[in-house]
Amino acid sequence: MGSPQILAWAAIAIGPQGPGLVEPFVDPGYGKVVWAQSPNFNQRPPGTVVDTVVLHHTAGPNLVGTVRWFANPESRVSSHFTVGKDGSIVQHVSTFARAWHAGESILLGRPNLNHYSIGIEMVNIGDGKDPWPKEQVEVVGFLIAHLRKRFPQLRYVTSHEFVAVPKGRKPDPKGFPWKSLEHLGLELIYDMSKRPEPLSEAILSAHRKRQGTSQSLEQQESNVGLGLAVPGLPAEGEAAESRFHREGSGKDTPTRSVDR
Ligand SMILES: [Zn+2]
Repeated sequence: MGSPQILAWAAIAIGPQGPGLVEPFVDPGYGKVVWAQSPNFNQRPPGTVVDTVVLHHTAGPNLVGTVRWFANPESRVSSHFTVGKDGSIVQHVSTFARAWHAGESILLGRPNLNHYSIGIEMVNIGDGKDPWPKEQVEVVGFLIAHLRKRFPQLRYVTSHEFVAVPKGRKPDPKGFPWKSLEHLGLELIYDMSKRPEPLSEAILSAHRKRQGTSQSLEQQESNVGLGLAVPGLPAEGEAAESRFHREGSGKDTPTRSVDR
Protein backbone atom coordinates (compact mmCIF):
# COMPACT_ATOMS: atom_id res chain seq x y z
CA MET A 1 0.00 0.00 0.00
CA GLY A 2 1.18 3.45 -0.80
CA SER A 3 4.12 2.63 -3.06
CA PRO A 4 4.45 4.96 -6.07
CA GLN A 5 3.40 2.07 -8.32
CA ILE A 6 0.21 1.50 -6.39
CA LEU A 7 -0.56 5.22 -6.38
CA ALA A 8 -0.02 5.45 -10.12
CA TRP A 9 -2.24 2.45 -10.68
CA ALA A 10 -4.97 3.95 -8.54
CA ALA A 11 -4.81 7.24 -10.41
CA ILE A 12 -5.31 5.45 -13.70
CA ALA A 13 -7.97 3.15 -12.37
CA ILE A 14 -10.20 5.95 -11.12
CA GLY A 15 -9.79 8.27 -14.07
CA PRO A 16 -12.37 10.70 -15.41
CA GLN A 17 -14.29 7.99 -17.19
CA GLY A 18 -17.26 8.37 -14.88
CA PRO A 19 -19.65 5.61 -14.00
CA GLY A 20 -17.59 3.05 -15.89
CA LEU A 21 -14.54 3.56 -13.71
CA VAL A 22 -12.33 0.59 -13.06
CA GLU A 23 -12.86 -1.16 -9.76
CA PRO A 24 -11.90 -1.94 -7.14
CA PHE A 25 -11.01 1.39 -5.60
CA VAL A 26 -8.44 0.96 -2.84
CA ASP A 27 -8.23 3.44 0.03
CA PRO A 28 -4.60 4.66 0.02
CA GLY A 29 -4.27 4.65 3.83
CA TYR A 30 -3.38 7.17 6.52
CA GLY A 31 -1.91 10.39 5.18
CA LYS A 32 -1.56 9.07 1.62
CA VAL A 33 -3.16 10.60 -1.45
CA VAL A 34 -4.64 9.16 -4.61
CA TRP A 35 -6.02 11.15 -7.49
CA ALA A 36 -9.52 10.30 -8.66
CA GLN A 37 -10.33 12.99 -11.20
CA SER A 38 -13.82 14.47 -11.14
CA PRO A 39 -15.21 15.92 -14.36
CA ASN A 40 -17.26 18.33 -12.25
CA PHE A 41 -15.20 21.53 -12.11
CA ASN A 42 -14.44 24.71 -14.01
CA GLN A 43 -11.93 27.55 -13.77
CA ARG A 44 -11.70 30.00 -10.93
CA PRO A 45 -12.15 33.64 -11.95
CA PRO A 46 -8.78 35.05 -13.07
CA GLY A 47 -6.93 36.72 -10.21
CA THR A 48 -8.79 34.79 -7.53
CA VAL A 49 -7.04 34.70 -4.16
CA VAL A 50 -7.77 31.39 -2.49
CA ASP A 51 -8.06 32.19 1.20
CA THR A 52 -10.73 29.85 2.57
CA VAL A 53 -11.24 26.14 3.26
CA VAL A 54 -14.80 24.83 3.46
CA LEU A 55 -15.29 21.61 5.45
CA HIS A 56 -18.10 19.17 4.66
CA HIS A 57 -19.35 15.75 5.70
CA THR A 58 -20.11 13.31 2.91
CA ALA A 59 -23.38 12.08 4.44
CA GLY A 60 -22.20 8.67 3.23
CA PRO A 61 -20.49 5.88 5.16
CA ASN A 62 -17.35 5.28 3.09
CA LEU A 63 -14.77 6.82 0.82
CA VAL A 64 -15.51 4.80 -2.29
CA GLY A 65 -19.12 6.00 -2.48
CA THR A 66 -17.96 9.62 -2.64
CA VAL A 67 -15.18 8.80 -5.13
CA ARG A 68 -17.68 7.18 -7.49
CA TRP A 69 -20.20 9.98 -7.07
CA PHE A 70 -17.70 12.75 -7.78
CA ALA A 71 -16.35 10.79 -10.78
CA ASN A 72 -19.84 10.68 -12.23
CA PRO A 73 -20.54 13.60 -14.59
CA GLU A 74 -24.24 13.32 -13.82
CA SER A 75 -23.72 14.18 -10.15
CA ARG A 76 -22.45 17.68 -11.04
CA VAL A 77 -20.81 17.94 -7.65
CA SER A 78 -17.24 17.59 -6.46
CA SER A 79 -14.75 18.79 -3.89
CA HIS A 80 -11.00 19.19 -4.09
CA PHE A 81 -10.39 16.48 -1.49
CA THR A 82 -12.17 13.80 0.48
CA VAL A 83 -10.62 12.44 3.67
CA GLY A 84 -11.64 8.96 4.81
CA LYS A 85 -12.16 7.75 8.35
CA ASP A 86 -8.69 6.16 8.33
CA GLY A 87 -7.00 9.37 7.13
CA SER A 88 -6.88 8.31 3.46
CA ILE A 89 -6.93 11.32 1.11
CA VAL A 90 -8.47 11.39 -2.35
CA GLN A 91 -7.99 14.44 -4.56
CA HIS A 92 -10.73 14.97 -7.16
CA VAL A 93 -10.00 18.45 -8.56
CA SER A 94 -6.84 20.57 -8.87
CA THR A 95 -6.74 23.23 -6.16
CA PHE A 96 -6.08 25.76 -8.92
CA ALA A 97 -9.48 24.91 -10.42
CA ARG A 98 -12.96 25.55 -9.07
CA ALA A 99 -14.67 22.52 -7.51
CA TRP A 100 -18.44 22.43 -7.05
CA HIS A 101 -19.02 21.90 -3.34
CA ALA A 102 -20.45 25.00 -1.67
CA GLY A 103 -23.38 26.01 -3.88
CA GLU A 104 -25.10 29.27 -3.09
CA SER A 105 -23.02 30.65 -0.27
CA ILE A 106 -21.52 33.73 1.38
CA LEU A 107 -18.72 34.40 3.86
CA LEU A 108 -17.97 37.80 5.41
CA GLY A 109 -19.89 39.55 2.66
CA ARG A 110 -18.25 37.60 -0.18
CA PRO A 111 -20.62 35.39 -2.18
CA ASN A 112 -19.92 32.19 -4.12
CA LEU A 113 -17.40 30.33 -1.99
CA ASN A 114 -16.59 27.96 -4.84
CA HIS A 115 -14.69 30.79 -6.54
CA TYR A 116 -12.16 31.33 -3.77
CA SER A 117 -12.25 28.29 -1.50
CA ILE A 118 -10.91 24.76 -1.30
CA GLY A 119 -13.51 22.12 -0.47
CA ILE A 120 -12.63 19.22 1.83
CA GLU A 121 -15.21 16.48 2.28
CA MET A 122 -14.86 14.19 5.27
CA VAL A 123 -16.44 10.75 5.38
CA ASN A 124 -19.14 10.88 8.04
CA ILE A 125 -22.81 9.99 7.80
CA GLY A 126 -23.68 13.27 9.43
CA ASP A 127 -26.16 12.12 12.04
CA GLY A 128 -24.30 13.94 14.79
CA LYS A 129 -23.39 10.58 16.39
CA ASP A 130 -21.01 9.13 13.83
CA PRO A 131 -17.57 9.62 15.41
CA TRP A 132 -14.73 11.68 13.97
CA PRO A 133 -11.70 9.42 14.37
CA LYS A 134 -8.41 10.97 15.48
CA GLU A 135 -6.71 9.76 12.28
CA GLN A 136 -9.22 11.56 10.07
CA VAL A 137 -9.14 14.82 12.00
CA GLU A 138 -5.33 14.78 12.16
CA VAL A 139 -5.01 14.31 8.42
CA VAL A 140 -7.47 17.13 7.72
CA GLY A 141 -5.16 19.32 9.84
CA PHE A 142 -2.07 18.14 7.90
CA LEU A 143 -3.84 18.78 4.62
CA ILE A 144 -4.83 22.33 5.57
CA ALA A 145 -1.29 23.05 6.81
CA HIS A 146 0.05 21.80 3.48
CA LEU A 147 -2.44 23.90 1.53
CA ARG A 148 -1.31 26.95 3.43
CA LYS A 149 2.18 26.52 1.99
CA ARG A 150 0.72 26.51 -1.51
CA PHE A 151 -1.74 29.33 -0.79
CA PRO A 152 0.01 31.67 1.66
CA GLN A 153 -3.07 33.89 1.90
CA LEU A 154 -5.15 31.04 3.31
CA ARG A 155 -6.79 32.53 6.35
CA TYR A 156 -10.25 31.07 7.03
CA VAL A 157 -11.57 27.58 7.71
CA THR A 158 -15.34 27.46 7.71
CA SER A 159 -18.22 24.99 7.52
CA HIS A 160 -20.68 24.39 4.74
CA GLU A 161 -23.35 25.00 7.37
CA PHE A 162 -21.98 28.47 8.08
CA VAL A 163 -21.71 29.65 4.49
CA ALA A 164 -24.78 28.00 2.89
CA VAL A 165 -27.50 30.32 1.64
CA PRO A 166 -30.22 30.40 2.79
CA LYS A 167 -29.21 29.78 6.39
CA GLY A 168 -30.15 26.25 7.44
CA ARG A 169 -29.76 24.81 3.93
CA LYS A 170 -26.84 22.61 5.02
CA PRO A 171 -25.87 21.09 8.38
CA ASP A 172 -22.33 19.93 7.69
CA PRO A 173 -19.90 18.92 8.99
CA LYS A 174 -22.14 17.89 11.86
CA GLY A 175 -20.43 17.45 15.23
CA PHE A 176 -16.93 18.10 13.85
CA PRO A 177 -14.33 18.72 16.62
CA TRP A 178 -13.26 22.20 15.55
CA LYS A 179 -11.02 22.73 18.55
CA SER A 180 -8.65 20.13 17.13
CA LEU A 181 -7.81 22.59 14.31
CA GLU A 182 -7.02 25.52 16.58
CA HIS A 183 -3.29 24.75 16.44
CA LEU A 184 -3.28 25.77 12.76
CA GLY A 185 -3.54 29.42 13.73
CA LEU A 186 -6.22 30.13 11.12
CA GLU A 187 -9.58 31.79 11.72
CA LEU A 188 -12.13 29.05 12.35
CA ILE A 189 -15.57 30.36 11.43
CA TYR A 190 -18.29 27.87 12.31
CA ASP A 191 -20.22 29.08 15.34
CA MET A 192 -23.76 29.66 14.07
CA SER A 193 -24.62 31.79 17.09
CA LYS A 194 -21.92 34.32 16.15
CA ARG A 195 -22.15 36.21 12.90
CA PRO A 196 -18.87 38.00 12.28
CA GLU A 197 -19.00 41.44 10.72
CA PRO A 198 -18.61 41.50 6.95
CA LEU A 199 -15.20 42.63 5.75
CA SER A 200 -14.72 46.34 5.17
CA GLU A 201 -16.06 47.84 1.97
CA ALA A 202 -12.48 48.47 0.81
CA ILE A 203 -11.61 44.77 1.15
CA LEU A 204 -14.88 43.66 -0.44
CA SER A 205 -14.37 46.05 -3.30
CA ALA A 206 -10.84 44.69 -3.92
CA HIS A 207 -12.26 41.15 -3.78
CA ARG A 208 -14.92 42.02 -6.37
CA LYS A 209 -12.35 43.68 -8.58
CA ARG A 210 -10.12 40.59 -8.58
CA GLN A 211 -13.13 38.51 -9.53
CA GLY A 212 -14.26 40.90 -12.22
CA THR A 213 -15.31 38.10 -14.54
CA SER A 214 -17.29 36.20 -11.95
CA GLN A 215 -20.54 37.60 -13.23
CA SER A 216 -20.02 36.09 -16.65
CA LEU A 217 -18.86 32.85 -15.04
CA GLU A 218 -22.07 32.63 -13.07
CA GLN A 219 -23.96 33.35 -16.24
CA GLN A 220 -22.30 30.39 -17.93
CA GLU A 221 -23.21 28.15 -15.04
CA SER A 222 -26.80 29.18 -15.00
CA ASN A 223 -27.00 28.24 -18.65
CA VAL A 224 -26.29 24.64 -17.82
CA GLY A 225 -27.83 24.30 -14.44
CA LEU A 226 -29.68 25.89 -11.59
CA GLY A 227 -33.07 24.56 -12.41
CA LEU A 228 -32.78 24.42 -16.18
CA ALA A 229 -33.50 20.98 -17.51
CA VAL A 230 -30.49 19.21 -18.97
CA PRO A 231 -31.73 16.49 -21.34
CA GLY A 232 -31.15 13.05 -19.92
CA LEU A 233 -29.96 14.27 -16.55
CA PRO A 234 -31.84 14.47 -13.30
CA ALA A 235 -32.19 17.95 -11.85
CA GLU A 236 -28.89 19.03 -10.38
CA GLY A 237 -28.63 19.16 -6.64
CA GLU A 238 -31.59 16.87 -6.32
CA ALA A 239 -29.52 14.16 -7.90
CA ALA A 240 -26.68 14.78 -5.51
CA GLU A 241 -28.93 14.93 -2.51
CA SER A 242 -30.92 11.85 -3.34
CA ARG A 243 -27.75 9.87 -3.95
CA PHE A 244 -26.33 10.91 -0.62
CA HIS A 245 -29.63 10.05 0.99
CA ARG A 246 -29.45 6.55 -0.44
CA GLU A 247 -25.86 6.09 0.61
CA GLY A 248 -26.00 7.76 3.95
CA SER A 249 -28.20 8.65 6.82
CA GLY A 250 -30.49 10.95 4.91
CA LYS A 251 -29.88 13.60 7.51
CA ASP A 252 -28.44 16.17 5.12
CA THR A 253 -30.90 18.96 4.52
CA PRO A 254 -32.70 18.47 1.21
CA THR A 255 -32.19 21.28 -1.21
CA ARG A 256 -33.07 22.15 -4.75
CA SER A 257 -30.07 24.35 -5.29
CA VAL A 258 -26.93 23.04 -6.82
CA ASP A 259 -23.58 22.95 -5.07
CA ARG A 260 -21.46 24.29 -7.83
ZN1 LIG B 1 -21.44 20.15 2.28
